[in-house]
Amino acid sequence: MDILTINGVSKRFGGLKALDNVNLKVKEGTVHAIIGPNGAGKSTLLNTLVGRLVPDEGTVEFDGAPLLGHKPHQINQAGIARVFQTPETFAELTVMENVMIPAFARKDGAFRINLWGRANDRRVVLEEAEEILEDLNLTAQRHQRVDSMSRGDKRRLELAMCLVQRPKLLLLDEPTAGMSRADTNNTVDLLKKIAKRGITKVIIEHDMHVVFSLASTVSVMAQGTVIAEGTPEAIKADPRVQEAYLGG
Ligand code: ADP
Ligand code: MG
Repeated sequence: MDILTINGVSKRFGGLKALDNVNLKVKEGTVHAIIGPNGAGKSTLLNTLVGRLVPDEGTVEFDGAPLLGHKPHQINQAGIARVFQTPETFAELTVMENVMIPAFARKDGAFRINLWGRANDRRVVLEEAEEILEDLNLTAQRHQRVDSMSRGDKRRLELAMCLVQRPKLLLLDEPTAGMSRADTNNTVDLLKKIAKRGITKVIIEHDMHVVFSLASTVSVMAQGTVIAEGTPEAIKADPRVQEAYLGG
């Protein structure tokens, strides 16, 4: 089943067509990579999926319902979470406090919980948050203030803040950008570790090693449109892809 269907989405910035008739489907439970040269429109596409940008044309269906026209917080409530290129966390709060905010804010029906909810429900949320911090190697820092943490720690925290929301779809925009090879490998390991949660992921990634380690399907974007799609192996061998990178 497709959890996300993007149909004919276009977006102009003045004279520039940043997205030009994008068609893309994401199967539930998969890791779907989007690759392509700088300026191909990858981040613009993600921005339309989280409601930060409204496309000029096209439709998007998420989990069986139309997505476009909704506000970012509504899209988030519907089950789409996003890890930003620059981590967005609450600097003066501790790691645990940062994780508890999205955990208690979520509304997924099964857990309609708030800070004044039943103690039992609160414990379930807390236990899950602890487990996620453990998976992301943040347990030792749980009482540390975020402004005293490294950028890499903040990135892991932001991922934790997404996971506690139990999203149906997680969007990651270049999660390894600017990282050393060692940090990139650690990030791949963490993303593999959280795969047990079964969350569908769309990952924009420039590092082919990361794409090959994680993704089952790859879409290639160039000049605002999808030029090729397939398994990582097929994509690697596709002459159109090589041309897009060399020409881009
Ligand atoms: P990618 O993420 O693939 O590198 P982007 O989606 O960031 O590419 O950008 C696609 C094109 O749209 C680029 O040419 C970029 O300069 C342009 N662009 C992106 N956002 C804006 C904006 N808010 N205003 C004007 N141009 C933009
Ligand atoms: Mg980008």
